[in-house]
Amino acid sequence: MRLHEYQAKRVFADAGIPVPDATLATTVAEAVDAAGEIGFPVAIKAQVHVGGRGKAGGIKLVEDAEEARAAAEDILGMDLKGFTVDRVLVEQAVDFVNELYVGVTMDRGAGKPVAMVSTKGGVNIEEVAAENPDAIAREHVDPAYGLHPYQARKAVYDAGVDREVAGDVASILSTLYDLWDEKDGSDAEINPVMITDEGEVIAADAVFNVDDDALFRQPEIAQLEGETTDDDLEAMANEYGFDYVRLSGNVGIIGNGAGLVMTTLDLVDHYGGAPANFLDIGGGAKAGRVRNALEVVFADDNVDSVVFNIFGGITRGDEVARGINEALEEFDTIPNPVTVRLAGTNSVQGMEILNTDLVTVEETLEEAVQRAVADAEEVAQ
Ligand code: GDP
Ligand code: MN
Repeated sequence: MRLHEYQAKRVFADAGIPVPDATLATTVAEAVDAAGEIGFPVAIKAQVHVGGRGKAGGIKLVEDAEEARAAAEDILGMDLKGFTVDRVLVEQAVDFVNELYVGVTMDRGAGKPVAMVSTKGGVNIEEVAAENPDAIAREHVDPAYGLHPYQARKAVYDAGVDREVAGDVASILSTLYDLWDEKDGSDAEINPVMITDEGEVIAADAVFNVDDDALFRQPEIAQLEGETTDDDLEAMANEYGFDYVRLSGNVGIIGNGAGLVMTTLDLVDHYGGAPANFLDIGGGAKAGRVRNALEVVFADDNVDSVVFNIFGGITRGDEVARGINEALEEFDTIPNPVTVRLAGTNSVQGMEILNTDLVTVEETLEEAVQRAVADAEEVAQ
């Protein structure tokens, strides 16, 4: 589960990390009022789950009420990389001299959590990580002991943070690690930590993602869930119990099993297409479930074609085929061409059962994906 910036900042602030004064607004009027109360200049920031909002025009610094109104009008309702902005954080602007990066995540390669600090914070940390990995100081953590204070200081020192603020930055890193640990975080990140002229250290952005499988023991985080899905399709998919991630392409993908779905995504990419989503329909593929999966994928305006990749195991291919037929018969019109690839138990019977008035059947995964990519290209033209 991904928290919004304003939610993550609340969690961070409760733990003692300094954050700017801020108010959440869902209308232009609210935003203007909030800005007046906070005092100019303020930053108006889109609250959607995408990175790089600054570069994409989702963050504006304003000097007075008029500019605040114009910025709020621009940002509220805007489409940011496929997400509609329905709320903004109105926040006291920080006059900074430096931007740092501070983060905690699981280093799967090392099999340990890792705490990170860099003085190359701001908007390009991914580039820094790729091109100049040494610019990020890293300390691996033994989860049994947590991040030792000396490790936090060492990371900050290794990163080359100014001495005057080193203690405060180390303390933010320690708090961030403790939160990540206590609240079952998967990623915790502050980019940037802003350093002001006076040597103040402030968390100007916040990312906090929490392990979905731990939400049962994180009631405070779990109760934020209703407000976190800014994507109607993800909300719909959650209700149906699918593992679903919306992506930016136009080839809809439905499969059973996460690995199979990932493989399909990779192949779509390989054949020059762009996946519109990840959707794992899970075990069993009865008509109802297939129908729900199709409803989610068809509801995505970006989708131009759909590919099913089903491996029959305990769920037999003939059952799946009947499910697909029944599900598609429920739609008055099928909005996008659908290609099916069945493999595994009873797949041959399944392929015979599939109604080819409704779907295209391909024998191999490669053929199915190529067909779906070609269909999507044709529709998109
Ligand atoms: P992101 O682009 O989604 O990561 O959003 P951030 O909150 O990290 O903001 C991106 C960039 O906008 C920051 O690195 C700053 O350069 C700028 N910015 C954000 N808030 C402020 C602010 O309060 N004051 C100033 N001067 N710049 C800000
Ligand atoms: Mn940021």
